[in-house]
Amino acid sequence: MIQDIFPHKLNNQYDPGIVAEDGDRVFIFRANQVYAGTDKLIEFPKVSEITLPDGKSRESAFTYLFSIDEERYFRFDTDVPEEVVSVDYKMQDLKELREAHTEPGYRIFAAYTAKHICDWYRDTKFCGKCGGGMVHSKVERAMTCSVCHYTAYPRIMPAVIVGVINGERILLTKYRRGYNHNALIAGFTEIGETVEQTVEREVMEEAGVRVKNIRYYGSQPWGIANDILLGYYCDVDGDDTITMDDNELKSAEWTRREDIVLQPDESSLTNEMMRNFKEGKLV
Ligand SMILES: [Zn+2]
Repeated sequence: MIQDIFPHKLNNQYDPGIVAEDGDRVFIFRANQVYAGTDKLIEFPKVSEITLPDGKSRESAFTYLFSIDEERYFRFDTDVPEEVVSVDYKMQDLKELREAHTEPGYRIFAAYTAKHICDWYRDTKFCGKCGGGMVHSKVERAMTCSVCHYTAYPRIMPAVIVGVINGERILLTKYRRGYNHNALIAGFTEIGETVEQTVEREVMEEAGVRVKNIRYYGSQPWGIANDILLGYYCDVDGDDTITMDDNELKSAEWTRREDIVLQPDESSLTNEMMRNFKEGKLV
């Protein structure tokens, strides 16, 4: 999965005292795109390859995000005109970088993780309570209002991925919009419900079947959508007739192990859960 970067290791401890140096890498996002090199070996701009606008210091321009091993990653804290970044880098779609099997994989994980944090910084410039300007906390990854002192923490949205099992078959879906490969039932946790209740509700909403024996499988950070994904298997309970939600899905079918067509890359929790069932592992 995308976060499986062993022997590399993510260190995301907050440290506002780290100042960017020439060789550190910088993430600059625009929607779902990022400045990256165009080689198969993925590279991101280095601090020394960015021309700071007049009057901007490194301390004010770059925010430390995290490290992977000795590689340190920063966010560029300003709207970026094209000419500040070396011509060796182009704006590229994050999903395409992942699906192109770009190496090394830990840098794709770095980009997804950075996207999540940078989206939150971008969306937390002003206080949600009083509209005042937000400033970086000196002690933790948080933004604090300069007027009313309200503190906002990074937003991580929990969502479930559900493998619903019916004997030798599993419920595969395809989304109506966007991603066009096989998937599992998925959805966000609503306020006031347990994650197990999310599983029950989402399966009922999308496929119209009841489930039992809900069991946790594993989790995955999925920064491009600001999610933490929680994977569960469960068994169909009673009538297995599918009533599909046409708004969300274009297909929902019980699929035999041997007929499962996996996703084109190995990065997702969904794909690992489908593969486990296909290969007859105990789920
Ligand atoms: Zn405020």
